[in-house]
Amino acid sequence: MTRSADWTPPELIGPDRTAFQVRHAWCVGRNYAEHAREMGADPAAADPIFFSKPAAALVQAAAIPYPRSTKALHHEVELVALLGQGGRDLDADTALRCVVGWAVGCDLTRRDVQARAKQAGQPWALAKGFDASGPVGPWRSADDWSPSPATPIRLAVGGRLRQQATLGDMIWPVGELIARLSREVTLHPGDVLFTGTPAGVGPLTVGDRVEARIDGLPGLAFEIVDPAA
Ligand code: MN
Repeated sequence: MTRSADWTPPELIGPDRTAFQVRHAWCVGRNYAEHAREMGADPAAADPIFFSKPAAALVQAAAIPYPRSTKALHHEVELVALLGQGGRDLDADTALRCVVGWAVGCDLTRRDVQARAKQAGQPWALAKGFDASGPVGPWRSADDWSPSPATPIRLAVGGRLRQQATLGDMIWPVGELIARLSREVTLHPGDVLFTGTPAGVGPLTVGDRVEARIDGLPGLAFEIVDPAA
């Protein structure tokens, strides 16, 4: 039997090509107005909605098993920021300078589980935080790339475009998101933030090939596979 002390968290390959451990995976909901509308929400809501995935849910893998307990696994392409510094009560400029790496990620979501949770006033934990629910592509150093409003973000399934927007469509830009989060919790190196998804989210099935791109970043590609295979 493995002792708890023997457990080490899964590692990702970082922007400097060395392995690192995600400390906390933060996510934000409804950060693109068109997506907020397609989910039946008011895009003019006053504050971002923060939630988490388990750090171990972040994977760099070519195959993602279709999760259990859902008939509506949805893709959400997102820009993902890796923090190399933390702090609290950061202003937006300082917050943005805490980012050491950027990647394309997918906030995989059990949409049916989430819909039932919303209806019942329950948390989103199991809708968002299942095994391998956070595939991320290779990281690019923040020394070499930074988001600009004109930068395209898109996701295709089986070669068909499903989501397309620009990073300027975000309601709260990344620095503002990190700053607001830092007023609620102390942020640390190794924290990761999924920055929200544009409109066009939709279902995935076994055999689907997902390709997600943000111009200037390495692409994210994975296939949804049968968990029993
Ligand atoms: Mn999302």
